[in-house]
Amino acid sequence: MDGLSVTAPAHMAELRALFAATEGPMNFIAGGTDMLIAGRLLPAGGLLIDLSRIAGMASISTDGGDIRIGGATTVASIAADRGLAARLHALAEAAAQCGCVQVRNRATIGGNIANAAPAADLVPVLVAAEARLECIGRDGASFELAICDYTPDHGYLIAQVILSTNGLLPNSAFVKLGPRQDLSISRLNIALLAEFRDGHFGAVRIAAGALGPHPLRLPLAEVALAGKDLCSATLRDFLSALTAEVDAAIPGRSSQAYKRRAITGLGLDLVAQALGRSPRERLFEDAAR
Ligand SMILES: Cc1cc2nc3c(=O)[nH]c(=O)nc-3n(C[C@H](O)[C@H](O)[C@H](O)COP(=O)(O)OP(=O)(O)OC[C@H]3O[C@@H](n4cnc5c(N)ncnc54)[C@H](O)[C@@H]3O)c2cc1C
Repeated sequence: MDGLSVTAPAHMAELRALFAATEGPMNFIAGGTDMLIAGRLLPAGGLLIDLSRIAGMASISTDGGDIRIGGATTVASIAADRGLAARLHALAEAAAQCGCVQVRNRATIGGNIANAAPAADLVPVLVAAEARLECIGRDGASFELAICDYTPDHGYLIAQVILSTNGLLPNSAFVKLGPRQDLSISRLNIALLAEFRDGHFGAVRIAAGALGPHPLRLPLAEVALAGKDLCSATLRDFLSALTAEVDAAIPGRSSQAYKRRAITGLGLDLVAQALGRSPRERLFEDAAR
């Protein structure tokens, strides 16, 4: 096949038939907000499959059991879904802070994952929630993959994002730092999922973006909060752990000094948001001193 052909299947069955029939290069486009910027990611040839018209691929299911989000679901739909916000506030918050209105209306969760930007805003939340991806391979067969094992190099289609009930924790938050909130890529973003009861943390999972080639878990910061009482001493240990995470992730990088300071402010905002508290409360101010 010479040049680039574009097709827009209407059903999953049609999509799978395309997989079986196509021998040459095959690529996907959903919202196009990454791919169409100056055509920088547009493939030169092969088949480009438009995912935006496939029935059922832009849907959110939060009733009972696992949360399932179709790969072509827009970031705006994720930000607006009340059922999702009730079960994973951090994901709704990350979506609400992703780009501007126009971008959110086109951008999709599958594109955010597959574009694999170090600072992709939805991904730290998905990593902290231990999300699984339902993918479709070149042979048309479906299989599940942990988000940490996904790489766009495989060329798999992300059909659904699955958030298992076991991976969700009742309190969650997402915060980001960017030069301009609406139209900029995050300089740093962090997501936290936690159990918190009677002033005491239970399990804690934290992931951050823009600290390496892809978002990563922050085990030192998790240990600093998990099983501890909420008090200034715990928060101070948490802030020390966050700066240690920056030092380990980007040693010697020009942004290291800036990020090790920035992450402490973000860390306090993160905990305050997750617990429904104000970062201006004495407890948080004491920890920041
Ligand atoms: C002005 C502007 C501001 C932005 N601000 C932010 C921001 O604040 N935070 C942020 O995280 N991002 C931001 N972005 C980046 C972008 O909007 C997101 O990464 C978006 O989620 C990409 O989704 P999409 O559907 O537009 O992807 P597309 O551009 O359609 O595709 C991107 C890549 O993903 C692949 N792909 C798409 N869907 C799938 C799928 N289901 N399975 C497999 N591969 C797939 C495509 O083949 C392509 O390689 C911004 C972009 C712009 C232009």
